[in-house]
Amino acid sequence: MLLSGFPRVQLAHLPTPLEILPRLSEELGGPEIWVKRDDCTGLATGGNKTRKLEFSMGEAQERGADTIITVGAVQSNHVRQTAAAACKLGMKCEVLLEHRVSDPSELYRNSGNVLLDRIFGASLREYAAGTDFELAMEEVAGDVRAAGGAPYIVPGGASNPVGALGYVGCGEELLQQCEEQDVHFDHIVTATGSAGTHAGLAVGLRGNGSDLPILGIGVNAPKDAQEDKVYKLAAETAELVDKPGCVAREDIIADCNYIGPGYGQPTDGMNEAVLLLARTEGLLFDPVYSGKALAGMIDYIRRGRFDHNERIVFLHTGGAAGLFAYADILNLA
Ligand SMILES: *Cc1c(COP(=O)(O)O)cnc(C)c1O
Repeated sequence: MLLSGFPRVQLAHLPTPLEILPRLSEELGGPEIWVKRDDCTGLATGGNKTRKLEFSMGEAQERGADTIITVGAVQSNHVRQTAAAACKLGMKCEVLLEHRVSDPSELYRNSGNVLLDRIFGASLREYAAGTDFELAMEEVAGDVRAAGGAPYIVPGGASNPVGALGYVGCGEELLQQCEEQDVHFDHIVTATGSAGTHAGLAVGLRGNGSDLPILGIGVNAPKDAQEDKVYKLAAETAELVDKPGCVAREDIIADCNYIGPGYGQPTDGMNEAVLLLARTEGLLFDPVYSGKALAGMIDYIRRGRFDHNERIVFLHTGGAAGLFAYADILNLA
């Protein structure tokens, strides 16, 4: 275990289930597909940010914070889970929302995650795309301090080394489940965005001697930029858990060919993937992250890039709470 000694609060329902998807596997006629259900982490409809927040909020609490400041896109799953975590720990939550999607619909601005942020009583401020959020969050922190509060900034996606510890833990949990359930995987596939999930997973696996190949499917940045971001964070996280150098640059692989027109913009592959998983397995995925990652995995299978007799595990990072905000972009035929 690489995680003992770090401040941590309990927020997630762990371990999350590791399940086989027999109907999807049969439908695609390729490898055997499993899912690691991090959509079931429990907090405010769950998702991958909850594991990270166990460590971010642990550090906030240890430092005596009473106000959490964070940032995300308008339909951010990270913001929703952070707002809920702050409530659970008796803290205030100041949110900076970035308008990354041009011409947003009424639903996008008010439903899905935004509705839940408001239910949790988070204070929401809206900013234009491309704002310098490090600076903007420092300004909000200054205001909180001036009013006598004690702020703590959680970066976007909780993707710093402290937050990535949550996915070091997920890697360890997966290895233990493989042993207990006597199952061996040939690949793990995950969405990769702000990079903490991919980076933490790499450290959790390599730092424990596993060479399970990790395929990240990008959702916003081009391949080189995404891989560099993941690698940099993995290297820092490896230092933090005292396993320096356990992840090599060439071990970080992101395929960024499934983004389509841009972050949060729908693609036919995403639309098909969301409906296919719903209608074969009764599972919900989201249009921005897990749906695009699934589209990538399905395309790999159809092109024979994963072998027939291999076994693959897809990390379900959650996000279905956002579906309601995208009701008018999904083609349900
Ligand atoms: C944030 C998020 C991701 C991406 O995780 P990162 O750690 O930011 O790379 C994937 N899926 C969902 C549903 C998310 O909310």
